[in-house]
Amino acid sequence: MAPSPSPQPRSNVLAIPAYIAGKPPVAREGLTSYKLSSNENPYPPLPGVLEAATEAAAQMNRYPDMGSTALYAALGEAMGVPVDDLAAATGSVGLIYQLVNAFCDPGDEVVYAWRSFEAYPIAVTAGGATSVQVPLTADGRHDLDAMAAAVTDRTKVVIVCTPNNPTGPAVTQADLDAFIAKVPSHVVVVVDEAYLEFVRMDDAIDGIATYRRHDNVVLTRTFSKAYGLAGFRVGYAVAPSPIAGALRAVSLPFGVSHVAQAAAIASLAARDELFARVDDLVERRADLVSRLREVGWELPDAQGNFVWFPLGERALEFAAACGEIGISVRPFAGSGVRVSIGEAEAFDRVVEVAARFTP
Ligand SMILES: *Cc1c(COP(=O)(O)O)cnc(C)c1O
Repeated sequence: MAPSPSPQPRSNVLAIPAYIAGKPPVAREGLTSYKLSSNENPYPPLPGVLEAATEAAAQMNRYPDMGSTALYAALGEAMGVPVDDLAAATGSVGLIYQLVNAFCDPGDEVVYAWRSFEAYPIAVTAGGATSVQVPLTADGRHDLDAMAAAVTDRTKVVIVCTPNNPTGPAVTQADLDAFIAKVPSHVVVVVDEAYLEFVRMDDAIDGIATYRRHDNVVLTRTFSKAYGLAGFRVGYAVAPSPIAGALRAVSLPFGVSHVAQAAAIASLAARDELFARVDDLVERRADLVSRLREVGWELPDAQGNFVWFPLGERALEFAAACGEIGISVRPFAGSGVRVSIGEAEAFDRVVEVAARFTP
């Protein structure tokens, strides 16, 4: 007798690439270990945030506010935007899924740079759309001309990741403006600003001003990086209301938990303290970059809370060497290694390993 057929997922499901998460460090005798593999914030919770989250946890028998009303009010006030232009989600990864679901029919194209954030190909493939990956320049920047040229009749979404994870450079306002001008107005331009708080450069983009000028520009932002709430999963989009409304329509009902909403609101209230911490991380980044330069490394411009070593075939070897001395980093086989700006105490060891791998 022929075996009965088993249920089969949609054909695209088998093609979804696996997410390779940054690993925790392996403990080494006599050494404090450090996790520099996931671009996490090394600081403890901001003042008031743990209290707000704990208080919210007491209501775990209740569903969260599905409309994220208080969070939208706080975000709207902080940025000076109408609440209709906001869409919260389970991290900005959730927003990428929602963008594909809301704007792409099967086979429609999503254009983005590569290498970039590894959740993009996962979300695009899961949504049944097609990835069009445009290679970065040699110094890890978006090739915005090539990305504009890659837009076809099938393109529904283009993503600009700035600063780019994992390579580090950010696009300038002038370059972003020129790019948006070339993209047809019916294509959604997503500006992934997961690391915007860490940017220190001339002509840095003003995302809010940019979204105000265009009907097709979406900003995605997150509480995971600068705000230190990676474990709570909350991000948001700022977009013209028809787009924000579409993103809210396809969102997972009750996706953002009550605890996450409360922690995000309390974090917004502690912004002064937050920005002081971010300044400190930016200083650490500059310090690490200059120490690496002294040992012979000229890295791509680091505008996020991480640095990128374009090690090519030696990426895994470099990561293993860091692992030997109690530091986990994020290797991308055959391409490079990303090291997060975490505890400064770990930098001596990072520099020591880097000196052995000078290009
Ligand atoms: C970390 C990151 C995000 C945010 O992820 P969350 O889902 O909000 O934790 C988004 N985009 C990029 C490029 C990132 O590196």
